[in-house]
Amino acid sequence: MSDGQAKSQTSSRRHKPFLSIRARLLVLALLAIAPLMLERVHGLEAARVARTERANADVVDLARRGVEAQRDIISSTRAILQIVSRVFAKVPIDRSNCSQYMAGLTANIPWIRDISVAAADGRIICSTDPMAIGLNVSDRPHFVNALHSREFVLSNYLINHVNQVPSLVATFPVIADDSSVKGVALAVINLQWIGDLAASMAQRQGASVVLLDGNGTLVAGSADQQRFIGKRFADDALARELLAHDEGTTTTAGFDGVRRIFAYVRVPWTNARLAIGLDESSVHSGIDNKINFAYLQLLLFGMFVVLLAWFGGEQLVVKPIRSLVRTAARFGRGDLHVRASQEPWVAEFAPLAAALDDMAAKLAAREEELQIANQHLEELASLDGLSGLANRRGFDRELNREWQRASEKCGPLALMMVDIDHFKLFNDRYGHVAGDTCLRAVGETLSLVTLDEAVLVARYGGEEFALLLPGLDLERAKAIADEARKAVEDLQINHAESSCGYVTVSIGVESVIPDKFQTTADLIEAADTALYAAKRRGRNNVVAHVRPLLRAAS
Ligand code: GH3
Ligand code: MG
Ligand code: MG
Repeated sequence: MSDGQAKSQTSSRRHKPFLSIRARLLVLALLAIAPLMLERVHGLEAARVARTERANADVVDLARRGVEAQRDIISSTRAILQIVSRVFAKVPIDRSNCSQYMAGLTANIPWIRDISVAAADGRIICSTDPMAIGLNVSDRPHFVNALHSREFVLSNYLINHVNQVPSLVATFPVIADDSSVKGVALAVINLQWIGDLAASMAQRQGASVVLLDGNGTLVAGSADQQRFIGKRFADDALARELLAHDEGTTTTAGFDGVRRIFAYVRVPWTNARLAIGLDESSVHSGIDNKINFAYLQLLLFGMFVVLLAWFGGEQLVVKPIRSLVRTAARFGRGDLHVRASQEPWVAEFAPLAAALDDMAAKLAAREEELQIANQHLEELASLDGLSGLANRRGFDRELNREWQRASEKCGPLALMMVDIDHFKLFNDRYGHVAGDTCLRAVGETLSLVTLDEAVLVARYGGEEFALLLPGLDLERAKAIADEARKAVEDLQINHAESSCGYVTVSIGVESVIPDKFQTTADLIEAADTALYAAKRRGRNNVVAHVRPLLRAAS
């Protein structure tokens, strides 16, 4: 490869555009939708955060509601115990009057399992549970606390080992008018409701409920936590977290090892914590599924826009350009009649189409001019400058044409070869200029005499002429040749060296019907032979068909 080629290749590589039009359209489309997509992604991420926060808020709300229910139960139990203690502050605590009274008091309160009154020594004197009467509770912390604090006291949670139902004992001192503590009213609160609450919550969002007492013992829980009831989890991370604060949220492994988002609240008047946990993976997977679906939608939208840009670019930009390129290519192939502006173009392409048409029109006009100039040149190249007749080139071309025509028509084609006699001597005697004048005069005469028969009178070379006479057989051609010979003689151009004293010509004539066995060269040679025969006969003569070279047309 030469240096120049290498350079031009390098520069064309350097100037090659980086992106095709369609690729640019794609980039534009992507740039156009990018802010939209970023906004959407931002929105989705915000939705993820919002949903997680909502899940946290939900679980906190559930925990609070659970605790509110507990608070209501304890408050109402406290109110009942207050009433009982006021009643027994006035009347002696007596087995005969209290049991029936208390049974009526708690009949419509399902969460109070039993209500009892114990004397200051700790012995239960009356109770809605006959089995409890006589029981000594003086060693129970809640009894002792109520006795000494003179206030409402709640026990720790107690779990029934038979049916795993947790309960709580609420106590209220019975204070006599003289301010002495007569005894303590006790209500066993059945916490079956916690199980019911847990079951109802568990149906919601897969919530898991645990009620942990102040010692870290699980006293109640939803169905999935039942197997842990009664177990102490004081060293467990969740239990430590729950017991460390009155209220809060944490995401950690539950007692069953499942990671959950927990919200917990301290149960009023107790050290217990009610915690509600939502399975972290199910919370997130629910959110993630929605967000992933939204991302998929975004991806599909992006792909749709890209496809739209691709096919839109193809239809609206690339296709018109290809059409213009095709039109330009047709111009390049010389098809200058096609017009680009025949198609309807959009405003941006219309000037290009018009420019192409303008270019094609100018090219067509230029081509026409060139054709005319070429034709003119061709004619000039086929003419003899001196005589104005066709030259040898013109003769050859015309002979081929007439040969073809005669061949197609199976008609005769006659050829006359004319040579001025002793022209060298003429030149020598009268000079070259006179020789030229003589040449012109002979040429004109030959043209005039054969006006009707000859399609071409040519100056074949020097002082020799050739005449093509299509359709003439040998006899008629010879007759015309005789006329021509005589016409030249009759010009009476003085020629001292000629036998008759004037310029004369010798003519060889041949006529053939062209076929595949003969050529134009054969015809010329035959006419030439005849011409020399005429010279040999003494000049100023016409000879036809001397050599049986050709099958003459007779
Ligand atoms: P012949 O009868 O055998 O044909 O004898 P000729 O003298 O005519 O033939 P030859 O071939 O010996 O001489 C031809 C002459 O024609 C020679 C040349 O000077 C002359 N001639 C050729 N072309 C021109 C021309 O353009 N102008 C003039 N004035 N003379 C020419
Ligand atoms: Mg000659
Ligand atoms: Mg001659």
